[in-house]
Amino acid sequence: MSTTTTSPRVAIVGSGPSGFYAAEALQKGAPGIAIDLIDRLPIPFGLVRGGVAPDHPKIKSVTRIFDRIAAQPGFRYLGHVRVGQDVTIDELRARYHALILCYGAETDRTLGIPGETLPGSHAATEFVAWYNGHPDYAARTFDLTQREVAVIGIGNVAMDVARILAKPATVLATTDLAEHALNALNESAVQTIRLVARRGPVQAACTTPELRELGELDGVDVIVNPRDLELDAASEAQLAAMEDRNPAKNLEVLRGWAARPLTGARRQVVFHFNASPVELHGTDRVEGMTIVRNRLESDGRGGVRAVATDETQTLPVGLVFRSVGYKGMSMSGVPFDDRRGVVPNANGRVTDAAGSVTAVPGLYVAGWIKRGPQGVIGTNKVCAADTVAQLLSDIAAGTLSTVADDVSTIDALLAERGVTVTSWADWQTLDKVEQERGAALGRPRVKITDVQEMLSIIADARR
Ligand code: NAP
Repeated sequence: MSTTTTSPRVAIVGSGPSGFYAAEALQKGAPGIAIDLIDRLPIPFGLVRGGVAPDHPKIKSVTRIFDRIAAQPGFRYLGHVRVGQDVTIDELRARYHALILCYGAETDRTLGIPGETLPGSHAATEFVAWYNGHPDYAARTFDLTQREVAVIGIGNVAMDVARILAKPATVLATTDLAEHALNALNESAVQTIRLVARRGPVQAACTTPELRELGELDGVDVIVNPRDLELDAASEAQLAAMEDRNPAKNLEVLRGWAARPLTGARRQVVFHFNASPVELHGTDRVEGMTIVRNRLESDGRGGVRAVATDETQTLPVGLVFRSVGYKGMSMSGVPFDDRRGVVPNANGRVTDAAGSVTAVPGLYVAGWIKRGPQGVIGTNKVCAADTVAQLLSDIAAGTLSTVADDVSTIDALLAERGVTVTSWADWQTLDKVEQERGAALGRPRVKITDVQEMLSIIADARR
């Protein structure tokens, strides 16, 4: 290690919110700094494109801020580059003064119950990626001929999945929901969507605006059992001690629904609180799910935990989405904390192991792969700024490692390996094509979901 002699160059891996906010913080702290934002897809924005629900366009409008970041001097987008396959972490570390890992939480958590791997049992995250047109998931199929569906978990992803299943396809047709999903949802036979929460309404992870939306859908009755809204002593105490008003507001919304007369609507969203799935049944595919009723008790640390009783019920569901959280994955050449599913770090400086304070020089982390899969888009702004503050102070202290002086070495390496690297201008080409295709149908855009098609459109436009 020695002091750097050239002006610093930083590579950011992953172009979701944390990647863009890291770039923004760098640009603010070191105007004109050279940043290469690397993504495995030719299309940027991570979960803003592949996760945020299509009927939440306001949340997606954060991409306008990302566009401004991409327009700053020194910024390059290196799309269609798979770190770990096309180029290794060590090769990147040899070519940049610093690397910020912002590759998010790519997979999902499982329940660990019998029958979970039966056809018809899916991760909610896969369904989300499918309806949002993520290229890796575009070819997936979900059996929407089923009348009863269960969604396990009651976070905001569960709200999104339940809403997309419940919403009339005519309404979804005005969004940028992927064409293949629109066609499938248009034919959907789903009538009953069961939201299964292992704890009570006070502990529900969803936020009130997202919860409330379920009760505002045309052609949908929301069914809440008033018994589930009678709070146990532990939940009463927890609610009284909470500063966060979200649980109280959720409770108010749920109480309103419990008192609301049913309309005999075509679709129902049914809440099952204090219930955990214990088994999925079926021979060739999911035909039912047994849930056990839980009682809640204090965990002795201000929280409330679910304890199974012996009361069970079998629900005749034919499709199950587990929505119990995303999970971070390890990357070759980077330390990993398997237990937490994050890259171990001290306030954004990657450390050599979980619990260690020994930093790996030049390696930083931000976003969900730093702190776990929680928080909204804006949470990543603060998180990335904290990381970049460490990086900038390391630059000032001269503690980054010396690297090859020439930025063109990364371009040469990728070219030598036959990697078709796509640029920000290439993304703008794709963006324009998607919007033009959408305009013809009265939609915001029609997403291109095939990487080969993206590359061929880019190649044509470059000619
Ligand atoms: P989440 O908010 O952490 O919710 C996970 C849910 O799964 C919780 O209800 C949790 O219950 C439940 N769960 C976990 N393990 C379980 C198990 N073994 N059995 C049964 N239930 C289990 O995660 P998420 O919904 O994936 O969302 C991830 C983050 O993205 C969140 O911060 C969310 O707010 C954000 N997000 C925001 C929006 C938006 O703003 N519109 C949209 C989507 C996602 P317990 O509480 O009992 O653990």
